[in-house]
Amino acid sequence: MGVTRTVPAVSLGEGATPLVPAPRLSAELGLRVYLKCEGANPTGSFKDRGMAVAVSRAREAGSHTVVCASTGNTAASAAAYAARAGLRAVVLTPEGATAGPKRAQARAAGAQVLELRGSFDDALRCCRELATQPGFALVNSLNPDRIEGQKTVSFELVDELGGAPDVVGLPFGGGGNLCAVTRGFEEAGARPRVVAGQAAERATTWASAIRIRRPAHGDEVASLVEAGAVEVVSLEEDEIRMAWLDLARLEGVFCEPASAAALAALRSVALPDEGTAVCILTGHGLKDPERVPEDDAPAVEPRLDAILEVLNGA
Ligand SMILES: *Cc1c(COP(=O)(O)O)cnc(C)c1O
Repeated sequence: MGVTRTVPAVSLGEGATPLVPAPRLSAELGLRVYLKCEGANPTGSFKDRGMAVAVSRAREAGSHTVVCASTGNTAASAAAYAARAGLRAVVLTPEGATAGPKRAQARAAGAQVLELRGSFDDALRCCRELATQPGFALVNSLNPDRIEGQKTVSFELVDELGGAPDVVGLPFGGGGNLCAVTRGFEEAGARPRVVAGQAAERATTWASAIRIRRPAHGDEVASLVEAGAVEVVSLEEDEIRMAWLDLARLEGVFCEPASAAALAALRSVALPDEGTAVCILTGHGLKDPERVPEDDAPAVEPRLDAILEVLNGA
């Protein structure tokens, strides 16, 4: 389902993200743990893999406007790829629900951002209606081109590891990425165990990128669960928060709160005591900086003795 040869694809250099070994988490979980750092994509999340394909195909089809409902990262990605493609981007976002940096990314790239008095689910419904207008293309993950692009993370993992990992953890918001990752492995002839972490408090979770009451891909995820291809675990807010801090403090990888559901999910299931596990860390920590614990930096006089006094806790 590629872009045809006569129309150049829209790309910002997405994919080929770092796969980082995590020695401390490996010691904790008892198998080799790797972190797939999707925050290293051009706009800071895995959404770019799918958006490159969706926007390329929208332009190819003659659309003039791409529309999406977003808790933030889809908007940031759609805005950047639309700008690159010379298309208009329209974003419907639930009022007050998106992190500041993600809004800034969308606005910087010239997207028209509308704050909807409603939930993410309302925003998605309105986008589907808007997308029936001539020249408009929906670029949420209901667009199959998004799923096609997002499969590439699985192909990459199989290449990088020289085979399928034994276990993969990732967050489950709307479920598009869960379906894409699972299908990608299947097409690569690999069948890892896939463990998806969703917030127990879906509608209100602190992890804003997975704050989605009704997953758009819920039916498909249910059939994947039934077929034994995917396990879904529900995570408490504290489990997500702890995993998020540990990723930064034990391994130096600062990801989004929602991304940490990947590690929290692996922590909440029984794992084999050998083999390879991958956490797909979906977005960059700088996307949601206000979640970091309050800055308690003490003020200090510009003298060595004063600095040492504070460092030594005197
Ligand atoms: C979009 C997003 C998710 C959720 O992905 P779904 O495909 O909706 O399940 C998780 N983490 C981050 C950082 C995201 O941007």
